[in-house]
Amino acid sequence: MKLHANAALGPKGRKVMVGRVVEEGWSIAEAATTIKSLAQLAVDQETRRRRSNPPPDEPTRLLDLRPNCELCDADLPPDAPDARICSYECTFCADCVDRVLRNVCPNCGGGFVPRPFRPRQAWRPGIGLEHHPPAAHREHSPHSLEAIQALSALLHDTPPDAR
Ligand SMILES: [Zn+2]
Ligand SMILES: [Zn+2]
Repeated sequence: MKLHANAALGPKGRKVMVGRVVEEGWSIAEAATTIKSLAQLAVDQETRRRRSNPPPDEPTRLLDLRPNCELCDADLPPDAPDARICSYECTFCADCVDRVLRNVCPNCGGGFVPRPFRPRQAWRPGIGLEHHPPAAHREHSPHSLEAIQALSALLHDTPPDAR
């Protein structure tokens, strides 16, 4: 959320600030610094208010944008076209899903879909990558390659909606 520097002051506050510059000999720089810190205060207050009382359109549970493939550890940034997820958000690269996993998630047995892209910009207030950044923690599948291949062999012939 962005606030114009003067928005925090309101008409009365602006008058006070002009008065300080004119009558009390404040430099424009001093006034500007005060205005800036007041604006920051308003932004902080708004952030706290939203946290404790999110607007109804604010998502409370977000898709985890995990940073890597659980199997080969390839980087999967939010704009990676080859990120794949299962219904539990287990995240792998398309190469591992196609060649190794054969569309069988080693953690849950489900199938995969392309991970959707979170918008870079806040097209709506408080929304987008800037407000909901990717996860930082790199995940690694706890299963051995043998166990992964065994589950894939068992399930890959059954379509995900029938497993
Ligand atoms: Zn991979
Ligand atoms: Zn899964």
